[in-house]
Amino acid sequence: MDWIKFLGTAGARFVVSKQLRSSGGIWMSLAGQQILIDPGPGTLVHCLKSRPKLDPGKLDAIILTHKHLDHTGDINVMIEAMTEGRLRKRGVIFATADAFEKDPVIFSYLKDYPEKIEILKEKEEYRLGDLTIKTPVKHIHHGVECYGLNLEGGKKSVSLIADTRYFEGIESFYPGEILILYVVLLQSFPDRVIDHLNLGDVETIVRANRPGLTLLTHFGMTMLRSKPWKLAEGLSKKHKLKVQAARDGMSVEL
Ligand SMILES: [Zn+2]
Ligand SMILES: [Zn+2]
Repeated sequence: MDWIKFLGTAGARFVVSKQLRSSGGIWMSLAGQQILIDPGPGTLVHCLKSRPKLDPGKLDAIILTHKHLDHTGDINVMIEAMTEGRLRKRGVIFATADAFEKDPVIFSYLKDYPEKIEILKEKEEYRLGDLTIKTPVKHIHHGVECYGLNLEGGKKSVSLIADTRYFEGIESFYPGEILILYVVLLQSFPDRVIDHLNLGDVETIVRANRPGLTLLTHFGMTMLRSKPWKLAEGLSKKHKLKVQAARDGMSVEL
């Protein structure tokens, strides 16, 4: 059975640092592969507290969409946990090259622990068992190298649009039947440019793609204050689509 579990739904500074939502990233079980995406601060605790418990020693891969702290805070401890402190050399780490360069987010002594490290590049395809992981486009509007993902080979295709400012045509890169969107902002600001998606961008994307199910996550303060579940309901009704706001600990069967 394929499923997606949101260990955390926090995005951006305040929601993460105050832990108004937890920042544990997303665990997916797709085509028999156990994948953890963007393990922010608290991921290990939330795996172990999860019911049923999620055992990091069973992970096949950890993917970092980019090196920001809310996506990588627990990456080192998760590599330790996945490899049982190097007792078992196993698992694949997918990360951008800059995760290992200046201000590395992965400790160099841990680089030997996983079975393999894959450096994410634009328009690349990676195999993980029966699963194909694709990085169709570089999100150039986010300060650091960043990629969204298309995950194919499971029961349903899953697309994830990670942090980015909206750019024209972004939706065409992410055709998954299940679409996960990192939505930090309720709306854009008239006086400054912020490199994140807002709810208006979400509307543009889902109207064009009409995914079978859209899951919103990675909420900043303005989204949280406006009750993401109500916003999702509004979009669902307006566009006759299934749009759902993720909650901490929520799982979705595919
Ligand atoms: Zn983020
Ligand atoms: Zn970011």
